[in-house]
Amino acid sequence: MANPLFDTLFARHADQSTTFLVLPDGAQVTHAEFLARTAGYANALAKMGLTPGDRLAAQIDKSPDAVALYAACVQAGLVFLPLNTAYTPDEVSYFVTDSGAKLFVCQANRRDDMKAVAEAANAQLLTLDDNGGGSLAQLADDQPDTFNTVDRSADDLAAFLYTSGTTGRSKGAMLTQANLLSNAQTLTEAWRFTRDDVLLHALPIFHTHGLFVAINVTLVAGGAMIFVPKFDLDTMIGNMHRATTMMGVPTFYTRLLDDPRFTKDVAQHMRLFISGSAPLLAETHVQFETRTGHRILERYGMTETNMNTSNPYEGERRAGTVGFPLPGVELKITDPATGDTLPDGEIGQIEVRGENVFKGYWQMPEKTAEELRPDGFFITGDLGRIDDDGYVVIVGRDKDLIISGGYNIYPKEIELLIDDQPGVLESAVIGVPHPDFGEAVLALVVAQKGAYPDVEQIAEGISKSLARFKQPRKLILVPELPRNTMGKVQKNLLRQEYGSA
Ligand code: ATP
Ligand code: MG
Repeated sequence: MANPLFDTLFARHADQSTTFLVLPDGAQVTHAEFLARTAGYANALAKMGLTPGDRLAAQIDKSPDAVALYAACVQAGLVFLPLNTAYTPDEVSYFVTDSGAKLFVCQANRRDDMKAVAEAANAQLLTLDDNGGGSLAQLADDQPDTFNTVDRSADDLAAFLYTSGTTGRSKGAMLTQANLLSNAQTLTEAWRFTRDDVLLHALPIFHTHGLFVAINVTLVAGGAMIFVPKFDLDTMIGNMHRATTMMGVPTFYTRLLDDPRFTKDVAQHMRLFISGSAPLLAETHVQFETRTGHRILERYGMTETNMNTSNPYEGERRAGTVGFPLPGVELKITDPATGDTLPDGEIGQIEVRGENVFKGYWQMPEKTAEELRPDGFFITGDLGRIDDDGYVVIVGRDKDLIISGGYNIYPKEIELLIDDQPGVLESAVIGVPHPDFGEAVLALVVAQKGAYPDVEQIAEGISKSLARFKQPRKLILVPELPRNTMGKVQKNLLRQEYGSA
């Protein structure tokens, strides 16, 4: 027996003096140092009585030790459960209790707030700080720097990752070793990652994007990461000349473009810019190419499935699309009512199947049965179509679909038209309750910097291209759209706020 995920991602690098992490102050962590630290944590966890299959929940800041804790869980056969650092103790309490975590690791400065959380969940509580301190870190300091890797099979669970909660309460996606490993290998190849790559890593590491996509791909390739605590323009612009690749959410790209210091020269050393987690505006794609000469590569994935589609590395990276299904991933567009596959070009629900698809939601058999078909296809909750050349186009989430007077209205169609009007930066179209039609269309519009677009003119501008029933009943100018940490527009908040507008 062996431990496929640990062996492939980590163990291979155990004796290597190659650089794994570069920190903002220039300090470096080699693969060998990282693996020794990992073993320290794995020993500490085993000593605490954690045994294979136990869950470890962690709400900790981004740091090399936080990554070592993830690696230690894989090495010790534990299920790693990272939590959004923005969650309050009340929110954290749900996850720690729901997951049945045996150990909960938090920042030292939150220990007092989290004591009750751990007690209520019957979990032990230890701390880990981003400077390598904390009670768990101290335990690890005293441990040997090797550890007998626990045997695991590809089908064993490696992580519980809770979804972002954009459309409702977060669900714990059970991810196996094979889910994570197959996707990391596929992406490494698809995006041509090698040991020479240096990834500028500014994403949070409690989400699939920053944790599994970015870190696992780097580990499979054997490359390095410039590991910065968070996105910050000075740091990004200051470090880009040392990097070859970056993975970001769309707001990374819009913020870089807003800064005149971000020039072609700054991006010159880069090989690849990847975007995901939320839709990248076609306009951002075009502006980015004009500024830097690089075409951003957009891909599509989610907590439950890792990555499903990607624009090609070679070949046309088409703006406004998420590219083709990745090797090993089957994707179809189906009729939500019947589940039948629709002809290319028609809009329907996106379903995917492959080694990347999760095992189900933790302790939610009904929800799992609703979304995961017996034949292995997962109903993603996203709506999309396949264009003439096979590129997948996402038109939104099924929960954001507006049904007005019995007609289906896809917000994206209207948003794209509004975004094209003079002076408009972006928009969000939502359905709000309407006494006669069930729902009516409402548009929230954000102006470009320094522009003062007139809502009547926008309404007029889009009216020619839209059937009457799709035209917004009202357009409201707003200073910005509410976004979560991953840059996703939170339409549920907009519906709450403007539901009676
Ligand atoms: P919840 O499932 O709890 O409502 P969530 O779906 O936002 O939250 P995640 O798993 O973090 O949680 O996000 C996956 C979703 O992000 C996808 O289902 C899709 O709607 C969106 N997404 C990811 N990449 C892209 C992309 N390139 N373009 C458009 N949407 C994307
Ligand atoms: Mg989701």
